[in-house]
Amino acid sequence: MKRMFLGLALAALVATPAAAKPLDVVASISVIGDIVAEVGGPDVTVMTLLPPDADAHDFEPTPQDAKALAHADLVVVNGLGLEGWIDRLVEASGYKKTVAVASEGVSPREMEEHGETETDPHAWNDAANGARYARTIAAALAKADPAHAKGYAARGEAYAKKLMELDAWAKAEFAKVPAEKRKVITSHEAFGYLGAAYGVEFLAPMGLSTEDEAAAADVAALIDQIKAEGIKAVFLENSNDPRLVTEIAKATGAKLGGTLYPESLTGASGPAPTYLKMFRHNVSTLVAGMRAD
Ligand SMILES: [Zn+2]
Repeated sequence: MKRMFLGLALAALVATPAAAKPLDVVASISVIGDIVAEVGGPDVTVMTLLPPDADAHDFEPTPQDAKALAHADLVVVNGLGLEGWIDRLVEASGYKKTVAVASEGVSPREMEEHGETETDPHAWNDAANGARYARTIAAALAKADPAHAKGYAARGEAYAKKLMELDAWAKAEFAKVPAEKRKVITSHEAFGYLGAAYGVEFLAPMGLSTEDEAAAADVAALIDQIKAEGIKAVFLENSNDPRLVTEIAKATGAKLGGTLYPESLTGASGPAPTYLKMFRHNVSTLVAGMRAD
């Protein structure tokens, strides 16, 4: 009896490293955190730095965020200049392992802003890019935790396939809207990749980052353009102040077509609790808004 107990105890001791605690991953924005959770499955725990509905551009990391990084096995960010705060946070935390960039391999969109060329970070709003993110994240997880590489690859592929199905669905949905009606106003320029992938023109009073104040002259010019082109579809965003877009709608007689979720998931009870649901919601809302008038 005693010997059997000892045997079991030894087996438990030996089994502990193999059963290993899940890979401790810290993700920057909620979209990235959700993809990591889907691809990582039971082999990871994910801590997302940005809370639901947060603005990714002007995030201020806290000392708790530095603590989370300090014990992480892997950090995953979007990249393309979105997380301007990540280098300082990594340094403050003493984190020395890999910072994986989910957007690696995506063709970046460059935009002219204030006479300078800037990179658009919102690549996930094209679902085909989202599929690339899934595969890149699967590879990063496998590198950090080779024992579970097969699981990461299988879940990464399955998830990428769902995104490619969404991509095909979105193309069919936008095709229902006549080309001349595919013009939309939103708060900030977060849908450049979506517009390029699915043939929709987005106009926004704020630039690529919500940190840029909308200039009065730009807003006036946008109002003129909305009137001249007869644009009727105006949308709010969950992650920033609705007042400017609401004013533009009033000034032009355009209708508010609902709320879009450009870069931050909602809580579980909101309409965009996952990346897949966020993308589906945005496409449905855009298509309904453009077809309404
Ligand atoms: Zn943004």
